[in-house]
Amino acid sequence: MARYIFVTGGVVSSLGKGLSSASLAYLLKSQGYKVRLRKMDPYLNVDPGTMSPFQHGEVFVTDDGAETDLDLGHYERFTNISSKQSDNITTGRIYSDVIKKERKGGYLGKTVQVIPHITNRIKEFIKKDITNEDFVICEIGGTVGDIESLPFVEAIRQFSNEHGKSKTLFIHLTFVPFLKSSDEIKTKPTQHSVKELRSIGVQPDIIICRSQQSIPLDQRRKISLFCNVPIDNVIETVDVRTIYEAPISFYNQKLDKQVLKYFKLKPKKRPDLTPWKKITNIVLNAKKLVNIAIIGKYVNLKDAYKSLDEALVHGGIANNVKVNIVRIESDSLKNNEIKTKLKNVSGLLIPGGFGKRGTEGKISAIKFARENKIPFLGICFGMQMAIVEFARNRLNIKKAGSTELERKCYPVIGLINEWDKDGKIIKGTNKDLGGTMRLGLYEAKLRNNSAINRIYKLSSIKERHRHRYEVNNKFKDQFENKGLIFSGMSPDNKLPEIIELKNHPWFIGVQFHPEFKSRPLAPHPLFSSFIKASKNHK
Ligand code: GLN
Repeated sequence: MARYIFVTGGVVSSLGKGLSSASLAYLLKSQGYKVRLRKMDPYLNVDPGTMSPFQHGEVFVTDDGAETDLDLGHYERFTNISSKQSDNITTGRIYSDVIKKERKGGYLGKTVQVIPHITNRIKEFIKKDITNEDFVICEIGGTVGDIESLPFVEAIRQFSNEHGKSKTLFIHLTFVPFLKSSDEIKTKPTQHSVKELRSIGVQPDIIICRSQQSIPLDQRRKISLFCNVPIDNVIETVDVRTIYEAPISFYNQKLDKQVLKYFKLKPKKRPDLTPWKKITNIVLNAKKLVNIAIIGKYVNLKDAYKSLDEALVHGGIANNVKVNIVRIESDSLKNNEIKTKLKNVSGLLIPGGFGKRGTEGKISAIKFARENKIPFLGICFGMQMAIVEFARNRLNIKKAGSTELERKCYPVIGLINEWDKDGKIIKGTNKDLGGTMRLGLYEAKLRNNSAINRIYKLSSIKERHRHRYEVNNKFKDQFENKGLIFSGMSPDNKLPEIIELKNHPWFIGVQFHPEFKSRPLAPHPLFSSFIKASKNHK
């Protein structure tokens, strides 16, 4: 049986539970162990797919088409292990499963209750789809003490009781503040948080203390004493300069060592931290700065384009440059401001998006990049808007648009509700908004000798999708005659996947989201190439 590591958080949110879990996973993996990461989210949405990025940040999409929490993106980027649908669950999903079963009479007349029915379903999730993994790291969203997270904590308590301490480990991440006025590090919030956790039956085995500065031995002793944890298992994590330092920092603090010791295991090989050191060095010390503009609706929210921001940084790592992201709000972008706003920008990126708000600003900016030969990358909605721009201004179809935005436009992007997946026609629906898009990995065939073919060095690729609308293939010849090439197509030749402009240094639109597959230790070729072109632009 796999060993299960449960990660809870206390005191405040946003302490970096995801990053800590991902770093630990990397360290265990690089010592020869097979690891899996999972996230349990206490909110009532069935998945984050319908949530606004303002509420929850980016929706991360897996190979198998799950719309998941953005922490799964951290997991993938740090471990290079692809997550699956079965790696993310929410209270909403748990309840909806249990209620569905109840409606079918599956509980044989019993009263359906949080304990045991909800907690049993959570325990099923924890174990589901695990085969030969050595470790399963399960992160619980939210903070201990939240009403919503109670059933999850209860479920992991039961799980540990059933499978024994030799198979389960509890890690609790807390905040250890530094009070300037008294020049002191305070352990009380940690003590309270652990007290709260113990009151619902969970005694942590390891406490990770997030702090702005190193925690003196005395304070660590205090935490050890009051929280009933061996001193060596009180691990500090001091703010890192870049997230790529996190695996190095946790290794120095011996988190992985204590975890292996707890399970009475030894490393199978020495962990390799050189790649992290190398990229930390580039991110902190690269001399050249490349400004990339992102024009979108959610640019003011830190996590709304998390994978995209990361992928751009990875592209910078590949080119030994620092990428500076210039965020431009599309809503308020006026036509006459575009020139000034893009003045010092070396590349323009229009990311994924939904709905009409802010589209005209994006279209004008694309026109500017096309005409002024500024490197341009359009992702999903960004590619669709590049098609609309080209149709309006080069094909002279003034009313060109997308039926997503305007039912009565000239639809160069039309709603397609059917598509092929592994030879099967999947019927989309307009009824439910959740989980009904074209989601997950789909293949694209790349045209020989096209720019995209040279970038990927492949003739066929698989990338992750998350969209409902498709570029209408009917107009292909018109576009191509004017120099906008459909250089990537679905295998049946029906769905345009990639467009690129001839006679432009770098102008590419993709219907998929390459950012989900970029890794700091393996930057995505499309981002590496985009940053390279931008670096050469000015
Ligand atoms: N709104 C567009 C669609 O659904 C694009 C989606 C996206 O950019 N992810 O097709």
